[in-house]
Amino acid sequence: MTFYELYGAPPSVRASAPGRVNLIGEHTDYNGGYVLPTTIPQRTTVELLPRPGGAIRALSIDVGQPTPFDYVVGTESRRGRWTDYLQGVTWVLSKAGFAVGGADILITSTVPLGGGLSSSAALEIALLRAFREAFSLPIGDVQMARLGQQAENEFVGAPVGVMDQMACTLAGNGEALFLDTRSLEWSVVPMPASAELVVINSGVAHSHAKGDYRMRRAECEQAAGLLGVAALRDLDAGDLPRVMRLPEPLGRRARHVVTEDDRVLAAVEALRAGNVASLGGLFYASHESMRDDYEVSIPEIDLLVELARATPDVYGARLTGGGFGGSVVMLARPGRGRAAAEAIVAEFAARAGKAATVLVP
Ligand code: ADP
Ligand code: MG
Repeated sequence: MTFYELYGAPPSVRASAPGRVNLIGEHTDYNGGYVLPTTIPQRTTVELLPRPGGAIRALSIDVGQPTPFDYVVGTESRRGRWTDYLQGVTWVLSKAGFAVGGADILITSTVPLGGGLSSSAALEIALLRAFREAFSLPIGDVQMARLGQQAENEFVGAPVGVMDQMACTLAGNGEALFLDTRSLEWSVVPMPASAELVVINSGVAHSHAKGDYRMRRAECEQAAGLLGVAALRDLDAGDLPRVMRLPEPLGRRARHVVTEDDRVLAAVEALRAGNVASLGGLFYASHESMRDDYEVSIPEIDLLVELARATPDVYGARLTGGGFGGSVVMLARPGRGRAAAEAIVAEFAARAGKAATVLVP
């Protein structure tokens, strides 16, 4: 269905934003450390036509909704549906003092929904970009990322950090975002032409993931407290001997965070130098640290990483995201990513009896 077929007029604004995947820097964000997400080719697109009054009509092709959802700006209310993201955006804009009028909206997306590639931030940022353009709102990019996060935190009710919104606002196609989650200092680093991004979803999701995530956060706080630092970010490799004197499993938890921060810094250097072999090695090291020290991997994810290691066209692979299921991110020889991923998925099906999916490329 086109915008014209739906609303009887063409859109005047078209805006979009990409999904993202974290290359390296896992469980570092709530420890004040570094992360390195990159955008994926898939995007969410918003077409919009302003109309008089404050009424919004919106339809998203990808949620199978038959008719547009409508509401009036200023009367937003949470319903536990996708429309919370849209209402959250107009709510947060109004709250920040930006005047938003009525509009007809059509949303299309190639980012898999709920697959860990941040379709939520892609939707928020595509909407914010469309409103910014349609109503000439003076919003800077970092402010836009924070507005998206605020909509998701305060309106949708999801306690997410700002990484996803920063990544899909600030990093362009084929770029990674090096972000210091404490100071929010950031820089954009181009992905080397010598590596192709691959993401495979294991199809496994553990129901206890939320509880285990909370437990890891609590362990990090406890470790930081015992070591007398505000956050594990404040430690470096020189502190590892005293880190490892902490009671089990706190030492290993903290060691993951300290070494992972170092791996992000090394990965940024490797990216800048176009050294994909070194980058690949850092991916494997990060995976081992998540598996053995942080204990957030699962056998299916470990199998995918091992299959990747046995694939000559793959430089490196690791669990991406919080863990206990989810996806594996890999770097492959350019032009060989799809074939390598399909071979890995086929072997995974044979060995694990489960269907993994290639999300990128
Ligand atoms: P992720 O961000 O990892 O994809 P989330 O659970 O954070 O997963 O966000 C997914 C939710 O965001 C969907 O269930 C839906 O409510 C909303 N959403 C994302 N993209 C779209 C879209 N294109 N159309 C409608 N809703 C969307
Ligand atoms: Mg999300």
